[in-house]
Amino acid sequence: MNKNPLIGFILTLNWNGEIPLDKDVRKCIGTILNYRRLDNHLNHPSLKTIKDSTKSNLIDWALSSKWFHYNGHNDTTSSLHTKDLRWRIRCSTLTLPTLDIMNRNFPLLIKDRTQCLLCDNIIDSNNHLWECPNNYDRIRACFIALGDKLIDLLNIEADTLTSSIRDTVTNSNTFRWAFQSEQIHPVAFLLLKSYISNDLVGIFRSHLKSMKNIIKNLFPFIQICSLKFKIDIWKYRNQLWKTTRDAWGLNKKSFVKYREIFTSDQRTAAVFSRTQIINNNRDLERGYINPFNDFRNFKLDKDFFFILFSSSNFLHSVLPQLLHNSTSPS
Ligand SMILES: [Zn+2]
Repeated sequence: MNKNPLIGFILTLNWNGEIPLDKDVRKCIGTILNYRRLDNHLNHPSLKTIKDSTKSNLIDWALSSKWFHYNGHNDTTSSLHTKDLRWRIRCSTLTLPTLDIMNRNFPLLIKDRTQCLLCDNIIDSNNHLWECPNNYDRIRACFIALGDKLIDLLNIEADTLTSSIRDTVTNSNTFRWAFQSEQIHPVAFLLLKSYISNDLVGIFRSHLKSMKNIIKNLFPFIQICSLKFKIDIWKYRNQLWKTTRDAWGLNKKSFVKYREIFTSDQRTAAVFSRTQIINNNRDLERGYINPFNDFRNFKLDKDFFFILFSSSNFLHSVLPQLLHNSTSPS
């Protein structure tokens, strides 16, 4: 029996604005989103990088989708697997709780203190996390260690040795920048965000013949990458966040009990004043944020994205449609 609630969902979309959903999906996401709303979300600036990478054909969506389902542990119900999944969802949908998102969900606690905890120069966001100059050395060290690991792996598993494995890895777009101390390549950002790029698959393809063998080696490797990014980059950043949170006189409970600590009127007033800011910064936030979206709704959207991204329907129907729409003038 498959106990993982995210696996095996059937999602069928039709283009009349109706989304008939499998009963379990409905239970899980709690709401039916129409195509227009979905389109608005994917036009959000933070997801633009994913959309652009798709248009530039950088993402292997078929394998990314398989990877979203991949269980790196033997037990489908293990809490470790649940933790892995949560991390993958947050990375790929750009919903890690960075200060921009925290401020949106808990304006009365964050009070617009959204500067990056590392550089104190730019607003903390899911994109900035990986782009922050103060994270460059840590990210580069990750890619060098992972590149070396991949070289070792392919030296053991390779069935074609037409070229040097070390050359394939260190000349690839995914890893070259790290070995050469260059700017982080866009396909490396995709790996950081838990997407599988065509470039990375190309490295495996150069030395492994069958797709079966590629997948057998690729997913455990991505699993290692994913955990390394979580520990070396996100956990490091979280230590800084905990120090800051303490300095602000807040703790975990302040966030869990947000709706009890502040009255409905207080929360609505905070959301209203934020709406004014959003209206004054349309270019920045392009109407994406429903000002009355509370954290719960936000979480539902996040789960919806993940189900969507990992459904085969997304690959074959939704994605081509979105790409078609994004090229036509609005
Ligand atoms: Zn920064």
